[in-house]
Amino acid sequence: MKRIVIIGGGISGLCTAHYLVREFLESGKAAEIVLFEAEKVPGGKMRTIRESGFHMEWGPNGFLTNKPYSLELVKELGAENRLARSSDLARKRFIFSGGMLHRLPENPPAFFRSRLLSLRGKIRIAGELIAPGPPAGVDESLGDFARRRLGAEALEKLIDPMVTGIYAGDPDRMSLRSCFPLIYDLERKYGGLVKGMISLQRERRKAGEKREMSAGPGGILMSFDHGVQALTDILAGNVSGGLHLGVKVDRVVRREGKILLSLEENGLRGEIDTDVAVIATPAYAAAEMLGSLDSSLQTALAAIPYSPISVVALGYDKGTLGNPLDGFGFLIPRGERRKILGALWDSSVFPNRAPEGKALIRAMVGGVRGPELAALPSSELLALVRSELSATMGVTAEPVLSRTFFHERGIPQYLVGHGKALSRIEERLAANPGIHLNSNAYRGIALNDCVLQSRLTAERIARGIANNE
Ligand SMILES: Cc1cc2nc3c(=O)[nH]c(=O)nc-3n(C[C@H](O)[C@H](O)[C@H](O)COP(=O)(O)OP(=O)(O)OC[C@H]3O[C@@H](n4cnc5c(N)ncnc54)[C@H](O)[C@@H]3O)c2cc1C
Repeated sequence: MKRIVIIGGGISGLCTAHYLVREFLESGKAAEIVLFEAEKVPGGKMRTIRESGFHMEWGPNGFLTNKPYSLELVKELGAENRLARSSDLARKRFIFSGGMLHRLPENPPAFFRSRLLSLRGKIRIAGELIAPGPPAGVDESLGDFARRRLGAEALEKLIDPMVTGIYAGDPDRMSLRSCFPLIYDLERKYGGLVKGMISLQRERRKAGEKREMSAGPGGILMSFDHGVQALTDILAGNVSGGLHLGVKVDRVVRREGKILLSLEENGLRGEIDTDVAVIATPAYAAAEMLGSLDSSLQTALAAIPYSPISVVALGYDKGTLGNPLDGFGFLIPRGERRKILGALWDSSVFPNRAPEGKALIRAMVGGVRGPELAALPSSELLALVRSELSATMGVTAEPVLSRTFFHERGIPQYLVGHGKALSRIEERLAANPGIHLNSNAYRGIALNDCVLQSRLTAERIARGIANNE
């Protein structure tokens, strides 16, 4: 029987285990599946902290239904009854600009009424219809793309906050193609964004879909009754006997035709051999493990940078807030020079995130804009966030609860050249049969992307094993 070891028990590792079990069950063959997770709890970035009736997300607050993969997984797990749909307020998103919050316009009339952009900025966006086409043979940055199609003001007020909200990154360094492949394809297929959106809308209407295009991300934000950790808990429960928590893999080498892993658990060292190893850790951790096996692969992986981000969760008595938290939350363009990236009004989106009569806000600090701020000690972060919430939302109330969650290397940055780096990594993997990489460092950071890439990885492994038999 073949042994498959998965290293890392975030959504990518846990989903790979789930899909491998499915692949082998369907083929009627057996495989031993083992998963090592360095931390004492599974889930990686997907963790929900429950305290005094608040449910605070450590990282992600849900997945969108604009891609089907997470929803399909939930159905397959029989966990639909645990899903929580975001309230309609989730569609109401704000941008802080010029000292006030502006609602992100959802349709053309609202766009023309909005005071977020100047008349000149709006006219320039309307000029998207005749904007020049993409440069040939260039991995264009998001910043260059936005300037070319939508103008500098749209980049500053719309695209920069969007990139901050997803990647906590710098649009002038990030690759359009790697970060937003659908937008990249839309321009190439339809000749422009507006043309593309109109055509897609028509195609959807023809297919009987009622969903309207919107300025925010499409689809509905979904989570679970008691937070996103429910999903990774269910997946971890299904791996059961094969899951080993608190075990760090620090080296992957090859010996006598087998892959050999060095392990560390509570200061004790051990080894295990395997036919297949799936490294589902961040790229920097994979680089550390693979140094002795393939130094070129190590170099390529170590070159993928991460942005730091700290999350400050604040619970309030609703009555003291002085703000209805009437929406999803807000993001702040870089040009505003504020010290937080934005804040999510979690208890408006998923009401049970706070107990009756209370509200929960989570503010994001750091990113590539302010790495030094993300590293501040908790007490200073709290003071900084409180002063920023006062300046942006007028919230001066004393919180009844506060917690800080640090993601020192939080979100991988798909910089210009990421596609080429992936090709180099693929080349090295081809020279190292049995080694697979699967995490948010490569082909998408959203939970939907992690689920899809895990399924594809499991299918590739099952095919590889079947072909070699
Ligand atoms: C603040 C924040 C908010 C986010 N919000 C959203 C959102 O709302 N929606 C969304 O779709 N996405 C969101 N994301 C992105 C999403 O959470 C991540 O892309 C996803 O959870 C990554 O999963 P992963 O399994 O690839 O990596 P991780 O979750 O990082 O898991 C990797 C695992 O590998 C383990 N590991 C590392 N080294 C070793 C080793 N040597 N041996 C054994 N184990 C090891 C780690 O302990 C960890 O558990 C957010 C991310 C952050 C940081």
